[in-house]
Amino acid sequence: MARLALVTGAARGIGRAIALELARNSFDVAVNFNHSAEAAEALVKEIEALGVRAGAFQADVSDSKQAEELFRKVREALDPVGVLVNNAGITRDTLLMRMKPEDWDAVLSTNLNSAFYCTKEALRDMARARWGRIVTISSVVGLTGNAGQANYAASKAGLIGFTKSIAREYAARGITANAVAPGFIDTSMTEVLKDDVKAVIAAQIPAGHIGAPEDVARAVAFFAREESSYITGQVLAVDGGMTMC
Ligand code: NAD
Repeated sequence: MARLALVTGAARGIGRAIALELARNSFDVAVNFNHSAEAAEALVKEIEALGVRAGAFQADVSDSKQAEELFRKVREALDPVGVLVNNAGITRDTLLMRMKPEDWDAVLSTNLNSAFYCTKEALRDMARARWGRIVTISSVVGLTGNAGQANYAASKAGLIGFTKSIAREYAARGITANAVAPGFIDTSMTEVLKDDVKAVIAAQIPAGHIGAPEDVARAVAFFAREESSYITGQVLAVDGGMTMC
């Protein structure tokens, strides 16, 4: 029987590419979305056309109750979660002096708290099955910091410490926890950047261009594989060579 993967914030961008890549790798897929029901339903159809089962599940994963409910619904409609991809994320960029507590709280609760809530729920299923893969989408900014992104960088660095701690706690139970740290990837999150800014960024990337959501998705699928069972607590940058740290 196919294992079930749950991808948070999967209606578009990197999450969408991850959901499709996992389906191509024969996982059944639960698509979590917050507001984009139509896009999530369309994605479910695309996934089903690949010959696996799928479902769309609404939840704001920054809310612990909604995260708990999400796992209950997924379990009931499909299966217990075998692969969790903590992907949902937002930015509220501004220099620290202008950053309001609400900008800080929104980013920390969406990017970091959501991973805590969802991972805790997923681990119940995974510990029972003595098998699990947790893959968390961090960012190279969590490794290097970035001016104007103190809240975002703190959340993404927090996810790395979180991932390594979970990896240590659960390694003996057949459960791995790894992080993927994308560089600049072409999605709605980066489309707000002007073309000249994108050109400056691309000039700093040894590969010479901004990445695609599929580049990140393939790294996630690698960690989700059966054969990746001895790889845990790792952070894999998918950034065209930008950071190399
Ligand atoms: P995106 O804005 O296209 O996608 C983010 C998704 O998360 C959206 O579908 C959004 O609705 C969902 N989401 C946000 N808050 C949510 C909540 N509370 N509950 C459920 N879903 C929620 O951006 P993206 O570029 O695809 O980003 C995906 C992940 O990759 C994020 O964690 C982001 O921080 C990370 N990332 C992106 C880049 C990049 O360059 N695009 C670089 C590094 C890391």
